[in-house]
Amino acid sequence: MTQWHKTSCALCAQNCGLEVQVENNRMVKVRPDKDNPRSVGYSCRKGLNVIYHQHHDERLTHPLKRVGDTFEKISWDQAIDEIADKLKSVQNQYGPKSIAYMGGGGQGCHFEAGFGVRLIRALGSQYHYNALGQELTGSYWVWGRVVGRQNLIVGADHHNTDMLVAIGWNGMMSHQMPQARKFLTRFAKDSEKTLVCIDPRLSETAKIADIHLPIRPGTDAL
Ligand code: SF4
Repeated sequence: MTQWHKTSCALCAQNCGLEVQVENNRMVKVRPDKDNPRSVGYSCRKGLNVIYHQHHDERLTHPLKRVGDTFEKISWDQAIDEIADKLKSVQNQYGPKSIAYMGGGGQGCHFEAGFGVRLIRALGSQYHYNALGQELTGSYWVWGRVVGRQNLIVGADHHNTDMLVAIGWNGMMSHQMPQARKFLTRFAKDSEKTLVCIDPRLSETAKIADIHLPIRPGTDAL
């Protein structure tokens, strides 16, 4: 049976709305979702290629257990039982704080964060690490200084600004704002607004910017 379902792309933080056609439990077609209030029918080529990521040949679809130098397919029940036994034995031998949760911080990881955080709390540990500690260290510090709390996340209001300065950021390709390509193209054409791009490369964003400042690596940026 073939059916269209609403979902969202998890390949970057914009989470654009997508509609996917599913046939025999496999996605067969993808289109942007016009009803999504945030992306309003926008999707980049990554979102439109989500079938490739979902169904590629090397995707892990079942647990594998290391046996010697190789891996063997095992059932979910066996995997869960063995992992639970090992976690309990580590907890008993070294205490709950010897266990940490690594995850819940990258794009798409918010799906598993609810389970991961509850699991370490249930085990009695508070240790939680993720990639955001490195990726956004500076941002957390700035949020702490500006708004008083490091976990109070503030986002730039790109859509209402008159001047947008892109420092080493190639939004035309990497997005990081709703409807990035559509918005940046419109913004660059607006004579009332100014797009400045500071980038040694003539990136896709630099190409459309009103002002491109091609700083040279190794020299004094100022
Ligand atoms: S901008 Fe592209 S990669 Fe990001 S969520 Fe939207 S479709 Fe996915």
